[in-house]
Amino acid sequence: LNYSTVDMRELIHSTIETFKPQAVKKQLNIVEELDDIHAEVDGDRIRQVIINLLTNAMAYTPANGSIKVTLKAFKPEQIKITVEDTGIGIPKKSLSRIFERFYRVDKARSRESGGTGLGLAIVKHIVESHEGYIQVESEVQKGTKFAIILPKYKKEKIDGNGI
Ligand code: ATP
Ligand code: MG
Repeated sequence: LNYSTVDMRELIHSTIETFKPQAVKKQLNIVEELDDIHAEVDGDRIRQVIINLLTNAMAYTPANGSIKVTLKAFKPEQIKITVEDTGIGIPKKSLSRIFERFYRVDKARSRESGGTGLGLAIVKHIVESHEGYIQVESEVQKGTKFAIILPKYKKEKIDGNGI
């Protein structure tokens, strides 16, 4: 990973800006609650994480819905990013599988949105390569909330030999 100290509020805000035209077209409201936080991450990879989560939120939320993105400090020495939508939701039985490569909930309903089922597998891979983790909560016909917890500072990976 190409680590540097990144202004997370600016990174997330500028990523959201690129979705605004699409959001207007689909009549989706995007709300931002971003605290002023810097973190040591690979900025390009974390931007990809935000893009993939926002792409899903946009794709799986019907017109007139809303998407909320938050950035907060999370103890100890971590940051928490959430992406929440008022969309179609994910059934309980599928929740544990959505991070698998090529897995898509209910092929019939998602065919029209035409993805490949890789977006969340990539998100999980990037987050875990930062020594972070991802959580999801969802209710069918109500919406979905993804939370990403990342260390604020680069974690030195300990090598296999234990030296
Ligand atoms: P790709 O991202 O590769 O274009 P995809 O969006 O289908 O395709 P993922 O992003 O990995 O793949 O998501 C996997 C599945 O999880 C989706 O097909 C969809 O069924 C479900 N899903 C993901 N995000 C949401 C969401 N915000 N609301 C409802 N369902 C979701
Ligand atoms: Mg996707």
